[in-house]
Amino acid sequence: MVEGVGLYRTEVPFMIRDRFPGEDEQRRTYRQVLEAFAPAPVVVRTLDIGGDKALSYFPVQEENPFLGWRGIRIALDHPEIFLSQVRAMLRANSGLNNLQLLLPMISNVTEIDSALGLIKRAYDGLLADGEDIIFPRVGVMVEVPSAVYQITAMARRVDFFSIGSNDLTQYLLAVDRNNAQVAELFDALHPAVLRAIRQVVEQAHQADRPVSVCGEMAGDPAAALLLLGMGVDSLSMSAASLLRVKWAIRSFTRKKMVELVDEAWLLEDGAAVRALAHAALEEAGLGGLVRAGR
Ligand code: PEP
Ligand code: MG
Repeated sequence: MVEGVGLYRTEVPFMIRDRFPGEDEQRRTYRQVLEAFAPAPVVVRTLDIGGDKALSYFPVQEENPFLGWRGIRIALDHPEIFLSQVRAMLRANSGLNNLQLLLPMISNVTEIDSALGLIKRAYDGLLADGEDIIFPRVGVMVEVPSAVYQITAMARRVDFFSIGSNDLTQYLLAVDRNNAQVAELFDALHPAVLRAIRQVVEQAHQADRPVSVCGEMAGDPAAALLLLGMGVDSLSMSAASLLRVKWAIRSFTRKKMVELVDEAWLLEDGAAVRALAHAALEEAGLGGLVRAGR
């Protein structure tokens, strides 16, 4: 079922401007998206700059940007940027209540505690101003390997998890996601990535928290079968991938997907996993889905 927006990257409205957008400007932007999809949920991620996403008016020079000042780290060092964004989101959500707030690049629980403290401060301030707002559901992106091993502690603090498959793959395999030289090593179907995802799903479900997957992997029909077979609750992808993935998913029962995962578990490298999933799609008469455009 297609429902809402699985990942709205707020960097985009920040990147197309030549200065930080003000709170009211942001409120209008977020309101448009929330309104367009209401009552379906819209997962809005707080600013995830740094790494490969730069703002011309907020230059960050680093030797190693993907391991540096990124995402929540910048937000917590600049609470004024984070607070104005969260206030804009909470106000945009007024009367709609379909906002779900997502925190990027979390590597330890203290970052969640600090971020939740700021969200609470924004919420209390707006309530005191008489705004008609609610405290939104808050989730964490699992994209740094340390987060994989902290799900139980994180689940005590937040409502849902979203696995960022691009960054999780990059950090688990130590492969720069944008470096063509090592592109062949970047493989979201690497057994280590699959095991990490499965562990996240198991721990999150034990704590009764849903898990979604975003990033390129979720839009790949072969990977989507494995993700659903591992118990992932939802996939977030571009409109361009939606039809292909839907087609694939509809042709397989849940049982078939679980069996595919069981078979994949015996394989020792990503290429073999991909070959297995592609063969399953071929067998279902859907080979065209993974042959075309690849
Ligand atoms: C990811 O890391 O998979 C993700 C969805 O976030 P981004 O690609 O914006 O870093
Ligand atoms: Mg990411």
